[in-house]
Amino acid sequence: MSRFCLYQDNEGLYTEKELLAIAEKHLAHNYAPPDKIFISGGGIFVYDCDGRSYHDLNACYSALPLGHKESGNLDTFPRAFHEPDRILFAKELADFCGMDMVLPMNTGAEAVETAIKLARKWGYVGKKILKDCAEIIVCKNNFHGRTTTIVGFSSNPQYKNFYSPYAPNAFIEVDFGDSEKLGKKITPYTVAVLIEPVQGEGGIIFPPDGYLYEVKEICREHNVLFMLDEVQTGFGRTGTRFAFDHEGAKPDILILAKALGGGEDDISAVVSSEEIMSLFQPGDHGSTFGGNPKACRSARRFLKLFKELNLAENSKIQGAYFLEKLKEFADSKTSIKEVRGRGLFIGIEFNEKFDAKRASQALLKAGLLTVIAKKHILRLSPPLNITKKDIDAIMEKFREADIP
Ligand code: PLP
Repeated sequence: MSRFCLYQDNEGLYTEKELLAIAEKHLAHNYAPPDKIFISGGGIFVYDCDGRSYHDLNACYSALPLGHKESGNLDTFPRAFHEPDRILFAKELADFCGMDMVLPMNTGAEAVETAIKLARKWGYVGKKILKDCAEIIVCKNNFHGRTTTIVGFSSNPQYKNFYSPYAPNAFIEVDFGDSEKLGKKITPYTVAVLIEPVQGEGGIIFPPDGYLYEVKEICREHNVLFMLDEVQTGFGRTGTRFAFDHEGAKPDILILAKALGGGEDDISAVVSSEEIMSLFQPGDHGSTFGGNPKACRSARRFLKLFKELNLAENSKIQGAYFLEKLKEFADSKTSIKEVRGRGLFIGIEFNEKFDAKRASQALLKAGLLTVIAKKHILRLSPPLNITKKDIDAIMEKFREADIP
């Protein structure tokens, strides 16, 4: 093992030994890499910190048909071997979340799947429930992604129908926003509760104040894991670091994606305590590209920018201004039933006679891109660095659009 410094960035200077210790502490143990850090590559070769070359006979589990980039960067490099950016990403994200360990994946749905596996393993190994009996409580009108397990507990027939069969009793549905009803659904087989802090795809639905904290407490009382899907709401979207910060309802398992890559790369992550994450042993879970160094570098840059640009605060301030202007606009429109939002996560609900699709088309004509969350709801989630000037220009276009 090298005694020399091998990696330097603005945060510090690391020896191989230090990086290995950080990896042990903060990177999930679902792989068992050798005690060696690789720092560069080119073609068929990779290089360790002492400059020794190795023929790479793995080529990221075949994902590098042309070998490593000649620029020397390790961009695509498997979890089977250690590399500094992935290790430091795990530490920085864990610190950012105030949690211990990180398991990187690629997409939101994969991170949700990872959390489901982790919760079930905790149920069988930690809580010692009967084999094949694990139940997870989810909310009606949820959206957690598109894999076959996840669509099995979707309330949207289009997402769910035609892709069955699904395991009966694996996911128990409750009304979103009702903690009392949720508590009543807990059985000796319940391993976790999985919720979105705000239902995005479901129509920008905010639960009553205090709901997340109540669910967290119910989970704690019943020895059930509290899992939050902050794929959409994480990183300032609702005006705070995470949506759970509004209520101090830190989860046992936090699911992140989307903004994590800073818009430069696709990366997702599951973040949890050492106690829970350590249940994953080498071989239990994995992904060819999950936590690839290039995406980890993007995420590291974003975590820094998030603080430097004060994105959560900007989301809070500009979001409040945008909401106020949209509410004024809505007051003069007969087609709009409600405008609601928190930070820069805003929904415009139209009345039954007016489709959001029509509104979206009218706004497109006026020069605004919007998407539909439900038949009558438009979902707005602009960049977090939006300015007051941008919002004023956007409102001009709203006023020009053909919306009754
Ligand atoms: N969870 C939530 C709350 C989401 O909003 C989404 C995507 O919109 C997902 C999970 C799935 O993420 P992905 O599309 O990256 O798989």
